[in-house]
Amino acid sequence: MFDLTPHNTFALRAMARDGLEIRSKADLDRLPGGPYLVLGGGSDVLLLEDFSGTALLCRIGGMETEELRDGGVRVRLGGGVPLDGAIAELGRQGIHGLENLSLIPGLVGAAPIQNVGAYGLEIGELIERVEARDLLTGEDLSLSAQECGFSYRDSALRHWEGALMVTAVTLRLSRRFSPCLAHRALEGRDFADARSLRDFIIGIRSRKLPDCRKVGNAGSFFRNPFVSWQKAEELRELCPGIPCYPVPDPTLCKVPAGWLIEAAGMRGVRRGAVGTWPQQALVLVNYGGASAHELMAFAEEVAEAVLMRFGVALEPEVRLFGAGGEMSWQSR
Ligand SMILES: Cc1cc2nc3c(=O)[nH]c(=O)nc-3n(C[C@H](O)[C@H](O)[C@H](O)COP(=O)(O)OP(=O)(O)OC[C@H]3O[C@@H](n4cnc5c(N)ncnc54)[C@H](O)[C@@H]3O)c2cc1C
Repeated sequence: MFDLTPHNTFALRAMARDGLEIRSKADLDRLPGGPYLVLGGGSDVLLLEDFSGTALLCRIGGMETEELRDGGVRVRLGGGVPLDGAIAELGRQGIHGLENLSLIPGLVGAAPIQNVGAYGLEIGELIERVEARDLLTGEDLSLSAQECGFSYRDSALRHWEGALMVTAVTLRLSRRFSPCLAHRALEGRDFADARSLRDFIIGIRSRKLPDCRKVGNAGSFFRNPFVSWQKAEELRELCPGIPCYPVPDPTLCKVPAGWLIEAAGMRGVRRGAVGTWPQQALVLVNYGGASAHELMAFAEEVAEAVLMRFGVALEPEVRLFGAGGEMSWQSR
């Protein structure tokens, strides 16, 4: 048996039948039979039960850079490289573009799966290619950004038939610091250099979010819901000041789930070992010793409070895994 407790940032106790560290693509040539649970840093998963198959921990390292004639830099990162460590190292080398994603836990291989994003930037905007191994067919894939089909916290990779391990991600970055200031927290601010933008983001995140090395959590538990503009108007009456962000579908807009949870009176609420984080209602935490059952029951209570108050159904952003693999919120 393989202990998954140190491999999920919710710090939930769970086991897998077996576990393997994958340090190179060659390690993927000699896998035991499935099912597989592919994990990076375990910062976006909720393990509901012991897993009946093999956990594959992506630990493929490597960072290669290629200077381009226009001042661009092509950067290829191994799937097992910590994302924030890569951002820090690239900054030291004078390579910019990822600063807004500073301090997001987890490894590079997971980043394209849910198209990680923060402070107005999604990683899919900077990705050129994703290399992956299809674990069912054994085929090596090299997918363009278009083939990855990135959208809000989603991608075609996330819905891959069977199992996939992202082995490397190639990004198009730059020697020129051209900050992305599209987010409300950054609008109108002036950053002298990339380091000051990174420090600013780290400062906000450190104040708002619990450190997952100290308090069990997986960041935003729920996705920000998309609602019609008419519904957004109704929400504005109930929840004055709630921001509404445009999305590719012009009939819809995105509203922050954290605002809805807070306005439903659920910020900082604690039920035994679980609760919503006092500084950010969207983060569900395990204060220590909680079971997956307690966390799920509390998540349901939070979602129910928002549904009752605003008529908006929340869906989890974290990925739920049961004994046989991924489970949906509906089928849990
Ligand atoms: C405090 C905190 C703050 C956070 N803030 C943000 C944020 O601002 N924005 C944001 O988008 N997310 C955020 N997250 C969520 C999380 O950090 C990201 O989703 C991150 O990309 C997960 O990386 P991971 O390596 O931990 O993935 P894991 O949790 O290990 O896995 C997540 C999913 O990706 C799959 N996966 C992992 N690695 C691979 C691979 N190599 N190949 C194929 N599939 C793989 C897993 O099977 C699983 O389905 C936060 C989490 C925490 C704890």
